[in-house]
Amino acid sequence: MNIAHWLERTAHIAGDAPALMHGDDLLADYASFHARAASLAAGLSARGLSKGGRVALCAANTPDYLVAMFGVWIAGGVIVPINAKLHPKEVAFILHDSGATQIFADAALRESLAAQTPLPIVCLDNPDFATLTAGPPGAVTPRDADDLAWLFYTSGTTGRPKGVQITHGMLMATSLCYPVDVDPVSAKDAALYAAPMSHGAGLYAPIHVRMGARHIVPRSGVFDPGEVLALSQAHGPTSMFMAPTMLRRLTDAARAAKSPGHGIKTIVYGGGPMYRADIEEAVACFGPRFVQIYGQGECPMAITALSRADIADRRHPRWRERLASVGRAQSAVTLAIMDAQGQPLPLGQTGEVMVRGAPVMPGYWNNPNATAATLIDGWLKTGDLGHLDADGYLTLVDRSKDVIISGGTNIYPREIEEVLLTHPSVHAVAVVGRPSPAWGEEVVAFIVPAPGATPDPVTLDAHLLNALARFKRPKAYIPIADLPRNNYGKVLKTTLREMLSG
Ligand code: AMP
Repeated sequence: MNIAHWLERTAHIAGDAPALMHGDDLLADYASFHARAASLAAGLSARGLSKGGRVALCAANTPDYLVAMFGVWIAGGVIVPINAKLHPKEVAFILHDSGATQIFADAALRESLAAQTPLPIVCLDNPDFATLTAGPPGAVTPRDADDLAWLFYTSGTTGRPKGVQITHGMLMATSLCYPVDVDPVSAKDAALYAAPMSHGAGLYAPIHVRMGARHIVPRSGVFDPGEVLALSQAHGPTSMFMAPTMLRRLTDAARAAKSPGHGIKTIVYGGGPMYRADIEEAVACFGPRFVQIYGQGECPMAITALSRADIADRRHPRWRERLASVGRAQSAVTLAIMDAQGQPLPLGQTGEVMVRGAPVMPGYWNNPNATAATLIDGWLKTGDLGHLDADGYLTLVDRSKDVIISGGTNIYPREIEEVLLTHPSVHAVAVVGRPSPAWGEEVVAFIVPAPGATPDPVTLDAHLLNALARFKRPKAYIPIADLPRNNYGKVLKTTLREMLSG
């Protein structure tokens, strides 16, 4: 089934319900949201888009992002979401690799895109887009569960990005897990797009469309904590997805403004490790409004969830342990922990997290070698290391490629980072391995100092020794003004390792 049927159905049963908001302004009810998307579909088909044809969408968050998504789906096409902040060369690679035949983009990006590609570019904030969305409507093109809907390029913390094929069936599975495993959705709710719609946040649109909720896109088009607090207060109950670094900024802003986060119903966090100190601080500030998810492009948003109750239940004897986990398998997947030979490991033992189920990708776009290395007998190798407990809670220890092997022993950077972050002189930290003739690798910590602080290696060593074995202490603490991050806020450990070897 084409996921665009959800928009058609909601428009049919609740056409006058508010749908698209830009900041405080209501732009469209469901009838007009659907009418615009259906017109766009007809316009795209007239311009040659056929079933399975790829359309690149390179724009900052804006309500028209949703019109473009659903319009392309109604026409039977595939969206190639491209983060608007990527370097033009990265964009050119994705356009070429995906075989996109047309582009929707922000007007601000037209020139740089036109320098990279001869493809036709339609700007969202432009009369051409307005014309395309005002013509006679097209009907929803039939699509099957295996048909491609969203061709998502991995964020590329290492190497060249790969195109993850996300089908209509995967979107449906991920979307239906959301109200079951993450957070129920009703027509009174609003989805607030605080994170880039080109990544996971955009994939929360379909379930909110299905339930007839509002979609609020901040006017700034970027993450501005003050704006998120104000919009939530004005238009709650709002739900939103946030990466851990964003949540930390929101907590700081709320504390500074003495705001209890009025109107925020749920903050779904994930996409990277959430340090315990940060989530405890966030819960202390906002109360029980959090759900954690663990996913990856190859199984978007739907591997595990740590429930609101688990995060809030301070009296549970294993509350802290659970808070450090990513929760339990969502409804459409099974999990296993396997060793390097692909054999299942007993509970409690650390190995690679493997996932199978409806939200798992069928493979990478035009990349059979990468697919064969990642999908083994129906299991997705996540590249994450973790262990399961008897109650089904999964704890991630690190990315397998970030593990430091020193003197033959595995050291997981994340546990060192967790402890260092609890020291008041440390604002942010990233621990990586540095080649060492004696040990193979040795531990090095890059430290972003807290404002006005000068972290002292002797004090940090002593702080670590309260919690961790002596051999895990960094051999060097390197002060750094800011950690290198990719466009989604993930720390680029490859860059840090290159800095050490350079
Ligand atoms: P991406 O494909 O760019 O979304 O990155 C997915 C990776 O981010 C996963 O394989 C994990 O390493 C990490 N990740 C996602 N969610 C979480 C989470 N809740 N906790 C820790 N790491 C996470």
